[in-house]
Amino acid sequence: IAVKYIHDMERPVLPNVKNIIAIASGKGGVGKSTVSVNLAVALANSGAKVGLLDADIFGPSIPKMFGAEGDRPAGIKIGGREMINPLEKYGVKFLSVGFFVDTDSAIIWRGPMASNALKQLISEGNWGDLDYLLIDLPPGTSDIHLTLVQSVPVTGAVIVTTPQDVALADVVRGASMFQSKSIDVPVLGLVENMAWFTPEELPENKYYIFGKDGGKKLADKLGLSFLGQIPIVQSIREGGDSGNPVASTSETITGKAFAEIAATVK
Ligand code: ADP
Repeated sequence: IAVKYIHDMERPVLPNVKNIIAIASGKGGVGKSTVSVNLAVALANSGAKVGLLDADIFGPSIPKMFGAEGDRPAGIKIGGREMINPLEKYGVKFLSVGFFVDTDSAIIWRGPMASNALKQLISEGNWGDLDYLLIDLPPGTSDIHLTLVQSVPVTGAVIVTTPQDVALADVVRGASMFQSKSIDVPVLGLVENMAWFTPEELPENKYYIFGKDGGKKLADKLGLSFLGQIPIVQSIREGGDSGNPVASTSETITGKAFAEIAATVK
């Protein structure tokens, strides 16, 4: 495992990044990474300079979702300092903890190792000028969340959920963690993923498999902004598996849905 214990707190961290946005979820499997990738691509399509850091140590899926599983970012020396050049796809610069660890053993990582990997990707990533750096966090609440807010000034958090009751219960926990005194990161809003199932060829047909408007109602109840709904569509899953994010075009209903959410984040 190539993790070094370096983090030079003397240097300003990411001075050329305008907004650092954490993408979080209460539960795993709700589509946090899918939303991260597609939101990043939609923001890039709108003309912004965008980076995406995959900090989901327990299931780093960004490389696969960008079709870059076998790729490895190159090292570069800048001012005598070893840096890591992010990869770039669909106009998004990205790095993943998955590039640096054997993901099969990631599950036994101890907190400090995982935290150091995140710090390294932040401080040694050659991110350059960015309007947005999105951070795909592990699900739930973890050391990684703490490390992030202690390492960089996080602009805000976007929370992804499905409309299902069990997922919503964990959103309440996640939102109150960000809003707690020790973390104090504004929650930019909630994205409701898997809001309904719709066959691609019959977009007017809506089947509320996980319940209707659960995320929207919870956002109202907690006084959080509601950023939008994404339906369950086969092409979203296929785009994730094949490394072609649906947000790369806004011509389709799925691409348009992500473009609309990107506009609310901007
Ligand atoms: P998480 O990051 O929360 O664990 P993922 O983004 O990995 O979740 O999504 C879990 C699975 O669900 C993936 O196979 C993904 O392709 C699929 N998925 C996510 N959102 C949708 C959606 N809106 N429609 C269809 N499949 C989706």
